[in-house]
Amino acid sequence: MKAGVHLLSTRSGESLPWERYGEYAQNGESLEVRIPDIEKARIREGDFIWDRFRDFLPFDGFDAEISLGEGATPLIAAPPDLQAYCGVEDLSLKNETANPTWSFKDRGTLTCIALSKALKETLTATVSTGNMGHSLAAYGARAGLRVLVFVPAYTPAEKIAAMGIHGAEIFRVRTRDYAGMKKTLLALAEEQGLRIVSGNGPFRVEGYKLTAFELFEQTGGKLPDFIAVPTSACGHIRGLFKGFVELQKAGLIRDLPKMIVVQAANCSPLVTAIKAGLKQPLPVKDVHTLAEAISGGDPPGGEEILEKAYRYGWPAEFVTEAEILIAQKTLARAGYFVEAAAATSLGAVKKLRENGRIASGSSVLLMLTGAGLKDIGILKYHSADIRDITVRALGTEMQKIIKNAGDGSDETIYRY
Ligand SMILES: *Cc1c(COP(=O)(O)O)cnc(C)c1O
Repeated sequence: MKAGVHLLSTRSGESLPWERYGEYAQNGESLEVRIPDIEKARIREGDFIWDRFRDFLPFDGFDAEISLGEGATPLIAAPPDLQAYCGVEDLSLKNETANPTWSFKDRGTLTCIALSKALKETLTATVSTGNMGHSLAAYGARAGLRVLVFVPAYTPAEKIAAMGIHGAEIFRVRTRDYAGMKKTLLALAEEQGLRIVSGNGPFRVEGYKLTAFELFEQTGGKLPDFIAVPTSACGHIRGLFKGFVELQKAGLIRDLPKMIVVQAANCSPLVTAIKAGLKQPLPVKDVHTLAEAISGGDPPGGEEILEKAYRYGWPAEFVTEAEILIAQKTLARAGYFVEAAAATSLGAVKKLRENGRIASGSSVLLMLTGAGLKDIGILKYHSADIRDITVRALGTEMQKIIKNAGDGSDETIYRY
């Protein structure tokens, strides 16, 4: 670790050493890594983002061996269908499904593993609804660490299978109250001296910060007005924003993009609080949403996000289950099959445009946080045009298709 790096309690401002077991301050506030002399940070030469932005990172050098090739994901102008759907002409997509374990979590896992190495750990553990466990399992395998993952029983089988093949030890906890399970686990772990990394830990956030730097590079410094972020544990939104704040402190950008806090209507402790102007999140215990990757019903450190939302004028929106499915299908029909949690960003932006919270002419970026194949259970809510057929019947079928292809009818011709 660089000299002078320490942790700061985000609301009380208390300073703590970086070598801590807990992910949060004693009073429950989230912690932030403070990097000395951030005002003097410069972009350097280098092949990797962590190389070019090394002045902004807490680590004293970075071991490329722990990387699985995360980041450098495409930033794409959204196709016209998506622009029309949500009423935003200047709409772009950050395709985080192009990461090694198909979600943005890999960026934060990189820095979590770097911390494990700095602490000379042989074991790393996490509590996750799926993606973080999957990511930690993969990076842990690469780094030769023993990996423990605690998941709620509703975690999709695809994500559990992925953790399994990477060799993680998986604890499937019988509960729907993920927030309660997480609180209990973190408290037990701190008591017994097991360091559990969570979705909002200070060093994970340092990895998510790299997305802000990557966007800075990809846009040539012309960042979007708004960035829609499906939010659960709050690490992603915090990391993105911390990156922009640090770019501003270093004099590299003038204006900060506004984050959009996006949640599922069935699990929206932050968005309901922001809409009502409250200082505390409104916890949700019995969580039922298809967007299982954003099912944190009572995120520790959530107050900080509320504070930031008021201070910086961040819009907040939730998306119903029906709206999630429509958004997922709309993205898929435009070529992007993302998981339900990721699709919420599109649904939220559509609503915010309709109610005027996003003004016309604004540029908006959607974070496509995770891939669709991570939860195929959801496909039972979508239709697919599948026709089972014998080899013998192929010829006649083809004839019928060709005969009908030119008649201008765009109805489905046959359904078996
Ligand atoms: C983890 C996750 C989120 C939420 O990110 P937080 O950092 O927990 O707020 C959103 N979408 C997907 C696909 C995720 O895996």
